[in-house]
Amino acid sequence: MQAFRKFIRYYRPYRGLFYFDMICALAVCAIDLAFPQILNLLTKNLFLQPAETILSALWYIGAGLLAMYIVRYGCQYFITSWGHIMGARMESDMRQDLFNHYQRLSFTYYDRNNTGEMMSKLVSDLFDISELAHHGPENIVISTLKIIGAFTILMFMNVPMTLLLLAVTLIMVVFSLGKNRRMHRIFMDNRRKIAAVNARVQDSLSGIRVVKSFANEEVECEKFDDCNRSFLDSKTDSYKIMGSFHAGNSFFQGLLYTLVLVSGGYFIAVGRLEPMALAIYALYIGIFLNPIEVLINFTEQFQRGYSGFKRFMEVIQTRPEITDSPDAKPLAHVEGHIVYDHVSFRYGNEAEVLSDINIDITPGKTVALVGPSGGGKTTLCSLLPRFYDVTGGAVLIDGQDVRSVTQQSLRSAIGIVQQEVYLFSGNIRENIGYGKPGATDEEIVAAAKRANIHDFIQTLPEGYDTFTGERGVRLSGGQKQRIAIARVFLKDPKILILDEATSALDNESERFIQSSLEELARGRTTIVIAHRLSTIRNADEIIVITPDGIRERGSHAELLKRDGLYAKYYNMQFEGLN
Ligand code: ADP
Ligand code: MG
Repeated sequence: MQAFRKFIRYYRPYRGLFYFDMICALAVCAIDLAFPQILNLLTKNLFLQPAETILSALWYIGAGLLAMYIVRYGCQYFITSWGHIMGARMESDMRQDLFNHYQRLSFTYYDRNNTGEMMSKLVSDLFDISELAHHGPENIVISTLKIIGAFTILMFMNVPMTLLLLAVTLIMVVFSLGKNRRMHRIFMDNRRKIAAVNARVQDSLSGIRVVKSFANEEVECEKFDDCNRSFLDSKTDSYKIMGSFHAGNSFFQGLLYTLVLVSGGYFIAVGRLEPMALAIYALYIGIFLNPIEVLINFTEQFQRGYSGFKRFMEVIQTRPEITDSPDAKPLAHVEGHIVYDHVSFRYGNEAEVLSDINIDITPGKTVALVGPSGGGKTTLCSLLPRFYDVTGGAVLIDGQDVRSVTQQSLRSAIGIVQQEVYLFSGNIRENIGYGKPGATDEEIVAAAKRANIHDFIQTLPEGYDTFTGERGVRLSGGQKQRIAIARVFLKDPKILILDEATSALDNESERFIQSSLEELARGRTTIVIAHRLSTIRNADEIIVITPDGIRERGSHAELLKRDGLYAKYYNMQFEGLN
């Protein structure tokens, strides 16, 4: 019921269109019901008059009917075009709402849901909803009126025949609804199967490098063959049931007409019905049956649209877990003093990843986190920009709890360079400019220069206009990383997080990038996670984090002297490098 009310809300901006659409539909319905009645009147009155009277009246009748059908044409045009346009506008509103909501949802949502599903909600679910939004009210109101109208007229014309008609129609409805339910199930199965096909294609093509490197093309083809075939089977089932549905329906109609003809013949023979009246009666049967079929088909459309809308509502009603507190203030004049005060954290209901962590970073200093993979280094960093909220203790910037300031101001104060760089589809200028909306070309070039990527960009035929992203120019890992660094130079935050920024690079690229990163870190409070310990020797404090918590902390020299875990890691790498 609540979902229904939410659904109605989307009609609100298009109230005018909606009412006009309904009026047009009513007019069409009235005209369709009127025609046999007009015919009836003519045969009973005018057509019994002398020839001259008929001939002189025909002009007026022709003109009147033509006018009626012109009105019907206008109404039909409006329903089909503007009714659908109204549905499409509602669909567009919902899509925008959903997209906006996706942007606001927290990482916890993205951890739990896959992007393929989110995409299908934005596309196919919403299309079903828009069809329902447009056809739903029209079908229900118009079809019901037509059925009632036609039935009343039929009853007036002949009661026993109409009751017989009603009985057979009820049997037909039961049959059709049964078939319809099965069809619905099979259509759902169709959808799941085509989704599986899509998923396989996407998976296999995205991983084509892995496929080829293992020479597994055959295996992939076989896996695809399986799900492709299973989709075909499902479609075959659906066509079979569609066949029996449609054939069954037309058989029932034939049966109805047979019964009407035979019983009508009987009533004519006993003098209770005129032959012409039987013809008109048959016309009304058509008007009576057609909307019944429309309603039966509508049940399926309704289920699809309604369950699509429920899925849509599920997302819309998911509240982002991270929100600005009502009295959140912007974080202004950031100095960059970071404190982790007795911080604990767990993902959902899982085991604690961090417990009782205390770190204090003076503005402008650098802290390095090292330790085995899975120790919680990335997690620790993600608490600072509030990608997740701590489950115990607090993270403070310049003495303010990060939960008490606006996310916008908090995240503007923090720059992040990760191992994986994502380039949006667009040109290089736009990708660097992402760091600062509205940045001028000069600022972008200056940032590129500081990230040591300007000279390279100049060698590209289209320079800063070169297209990047999936179908764009292929950039090496190091070049992508430089673009990411340029973004952060442009953003110019007080706080910097470098999460294994150079881990994916070869030694040589790493050495080059290292100097850019050092330049980037100058004057900013920095948390750096590094795989290669040679890069963090100069950090003000090095913290060794293992799944059991902080094991060691101190400067490079202190930790070496201590000859503990850090010294072990360091010596191991040092030997490895030589
Ligand atoms: P590190 O960066 O030190 O390699 P992470 O912070 O990535 O470690 O991971 C710490 C632990 O948290 C690991 O056990 C990992 O499986 C878990 N973890 C990381 N991210 C998530 C997540 N989004 N949801 C649930 N568990 C996670
Ligand atoms: Mg990590």
